[in-house]
Amino acid sequence: MKIKITARKVIWAGLWVLLLLVLRPVSFLIYVYAKDQKTLRKENMGIIQDASNLNQVKVDTIVKVLKDPKEAIIQIRDLIKKAGEQGKSISTAGAQHTMGGHSICKHGIVLNMKTFNYMKVDTIRNLLLVGAGALWAEVIPYLEQYNKSVRVMQSNNSFSVGGSISVNYHGWQANSPPIASTVESFRLINPSGEILNCSRIENSELFSLALGGYGLFGVIMDLQLKITDNKTYISKQYIIKSKDYFSEFKKHLKSGGGFEMAYGRINVNHDHFMEEAILSTYVLKTDMTKKNLSKNTYPAFRRTLFRASVNSDYGKNLRWSIEKMAVGVVNGREFPRNKLFGEGGRSLSKYRSRLYRYFT
Ligand SMILES: Cc1cc2nc3c(=O)[nH]c(=O)nc-3n(C[C@H](O)[C@H](O)[C@H](O)COP(=O)(O)OP(=O)(O)OC[C@H]3O[C@@H](n4cnc5c(N)ncnc54)[C@H](O)[C@@H]3O)c2cc1C
Repeated sequence: MKIKITARKVIWAGLWVLLLLVLRPVSFLIYVYAKDQKTLRKENMGIIQDASNLNQVKVDTIVKVLKDPKEAIIQIRDLIKKAGEQGKSISTAGAQHTMGGHSICKHGIVLNMKTFNYMKVDTIRNLLLVGAGALWAEVIPYLEQYNKSVRVMQSNNSFSVGGSISVNYHGWQANSPPIASTVESFRLINPSGEILNCSRIENSELFSLALGGYGLFGVIMDLQLKITDNKTYISKQYIIKSKDYFSEFKKHLKSGGGFEMAYGRINVNHDHFMEEAILSTYVLKTDMTKKNLSKNTYPAFRRTLFRASVNSDYGKNLRWSIEKMAVGVVNGREFPRNKLFGEGGRSLSKYRSRLYRYFT
């Protein structure tokens, strides 16, 4: 039998192939998205956990810290006294993304700092006075109004300022020490209920212990944080071999004015496992035209793409292919510093709404 191949047939066949190529990833992502919505609904029914989902803890009381600084200090002092009398422990909680038993005491009192989030900027001295419960997601839009920004910032902004300095996180600012280097001073209530000013010259030992002290030295109430200008960066991304990561990093750090910020991602899909990497760098733009802080692009899609890679080889391959394609789209684009710090942890976490339900 002879089959006549016409141009029309070729076009139709091409369209079918294209449809199949597109259909599989699209239907897979729709399936992941729908499943993810169910997970979120189930989670809302109420399990008390840390972010690892491995440390379910029954606590005695959760206390919201009062908004007013003077009232909050009286409240916490009273609480420390009562807890001492009743033999109960107190744990201080920010956004509670640090995982492990130390962050919530069994049958203890949890101090929810998130309500204690006042802010006052000093644009002359480049300092931000901030309540320890403020989230970076609140700090960044606040500073944006003054064209200011955070000096050392971690990958996501869902965390509290107090929790962040208590773990002394590292940022993705190349050649910068962790966040403790940007803390000018803080006020801490110690286990005896005293309020102490701590800085490099006042109570300096306590200052260095509480920065990275995981809340073991008292409650950090508020702090003075060194800030910087909201600059503009040009994104330069490279798909490289992961074995060349360090040499590529050093090469780009030195070349063309270098970069101020960088992060890397290694492929975790089965094909060529951990052989490739995407090095994302941000070079300072010397012409400082101000851009408005726009919302992050396609958060639902990015979350779905990430969730799709969980327990699925196909999903992992798909995610890596799309991330590599995105390199071409993002390369050369300009980003204000504050926009780069606009990503929350929600795009990653399975139980993204847990902490908000628990503590608000
Ligand atoms: C998606 C994701 C990305 C991350 N990226 C990075 C990164 O790039 N770099 C990095 O170094 N880390 C990173 N981490 C870890 C993260 O930085 C820390 O877990 C986070 O900063 C802690 O903030 P939090 O508000 O969740 O603190 P919490 O977990 O609430 O608290 C942390 C600790 O500090 C104590 N504490 C909290 N507030 C106070 C206070 N006011 N006074 C005294 N003690 C207090 C708590 O008791 C606890 O022990 C990441 C984590 C996740 C989930």
